[in-house]
Amino acid sequence: MKPSHIEHLGIAVTSLESTIPFFEFLTGSKCYSIEEVADQKVKTAFFKVGQTKIELLEPTCPESTIAKFIEKNGGRGGVHHVAFNVDNVAEALKECEAAGLQLIDKAPRKGAEDLMIAFLHPKSTCGVLTEICEQPK
Ligand code: ZN
Repeated sequence: MKPSHIEHLGIAVTSLESTIPFFEFLTGSKCYSIEEVADQKVKTAFFKVGQTKIELLEPTCPESTIAKFIEKNGGRGGVHHVAFNVDNVAEALKECEAAGLQLIDKAPRKGAEDLMIAFLHPKSTCGVLTEICEQPK
């Protein structure tokens, strides 16, 4: 796998509304997009730091994996995943599988911002939930 850069850092938060002002301060940039991703049961908010983004993730229901993550973190949010940008997610997935990594997604699916995304299991990525993503063509 040869990612071009870190596409974004995913950070779980209990409330977008109460954390957006802090991240606008931290990144020195306005939140430029708020989007609900229904199949992941999250609402996302994006900020730019150079070519890397910060993706805030707020759960939309208690069954959301983000809600469970926050619960495990003692009710606080925290860094949830790191996303690497690649040219082709499907090919990168094949490479990861061949290297013996455990895949959460066997095939790319659509994520926020129309990216094609796939997750690798933290069990095989040093405990860091890892996303690989591809820009919309
Ligand atoms: Zn992400």
